[in-house]
Amino acid sequence: MKVLVAGGAGYIGSHCVRQLLAAGHQPVVLDDLVYGHPAALAPTVPFYQASLGDRAALDRLFAAERIDIVMHFAAFCYVGESVKVPMKYYLNNVVATLQLLDAMQHHGVRKFVFSSTCATFGVPDRLPITEDLPQAPINPYGQTKLDVENALKALARAQGLSFAAFRYFNAAGASEDGTIGEDHDPETHLIPLAIGAAQGRRPPLQVFGTDYPTPDGTCLRDYVHVDDLSRAHIAVFDRLAAPGTALFYNLGTGNPTSVLEVIRAVEKVTGRKVPVTYGPRRAGDPPALYADSAKARRELGWTPKFPDIESIVATAWQWHSKHPRGFDQ
Ligand code: UDP
Repeated sequence: MKVLVAGGAGYIGSHCVRQLLAAGHQPVVLDDLVYGHPAALAPTVPFYQASLGDRAALDRLFAAERIDIVMHFAAFCYVGESVKVPMKYYLNNVVATLQLLDAMQHHGVRKFVFSSTCATFGVPDRLPITEDLPQAPINPYGQTKLDVENALKALARAQGLSFAAFRYFNAAGASEDGTIGEDHDPETHLIPLAIGAAQGRRPPLQVFGTDYPTPDGTCLRDYVHVDDLSRAHIAVFDRLAAPGTALFYNLGTGNPTSVLEVIRAVEKVTGRKVPVTYGPRRAGDPPALYADSAKARRELGWTPKFPDIESIVATAWQWHSKHPRGFDQ
């Protein structure tokens, strides 16, 4: 398949490009490099530098490349920022995504793989989270992803778009060969911040909230390796053949892991202490989110290769220890 990877210079997109190449597909990358890194691009892969809202650039791309499937990773992903600056999230995550979908429709590209999120579930009624639970986001980030999920359903019905939406839990880790990894600016995610604190490159890690109704009082999340996520995106291709297909999958290992457990895993893997301070809860954080991924396992034959937090942190550590300044080094 010839696959357009929107956001292919970003964290999950760049890992997906490597997995596509490994599986014998032909990726093409679209990225505006606002958050993406030139050094994360795969050297042999065609690259178009443009934003999703640049219709002329999208028209040129779709005319030049016969794209079979579009994968869309070019979204903003910070829960806290989305609470403070929701317009930024609506404009990029909703409006720009619709512009991409409109360009696809215009050029007859009918298959779409979408990065959604467990944040669409808000504070779930039940755990682990199955696909059929009600979705009621408690932050604008989750709301923007749910808005796109709903638009996709309507487009599938009205114009025969076939899509899969993957609700990621907490993407983490780095490629096993150590060549690419997580490098956000600003970095707000737990594992890179904890590793940076252990290295003495970053300030002590602040634990956001110790009074949650969880076993140790800190939030429970489901950390899932970025390459495992990527493999699910490719495994779904065969299921998108029929026009109007609408698929939803929750992707996580199913292991609830607390903030303190992540810190302990980082200490074990790095052999260093993580300096920690304890602070208040962060706005928009639900107490516990972890996946029931039985549907992905059953239908896509998906099995996480990195089922536990230590194996995930080990790959992140390999990347951060070799690239303490991320892609800039
Ligand atoms: N967290 C924390 N301190 C930090 C960053 C994150 O305690 O400096 C917590 C956060 O409250 C959440 C978990 O770590 O419970 C994972 O947060 P992250 O930002 O990595 O991912 P999110 O769950 O927001 O997608």
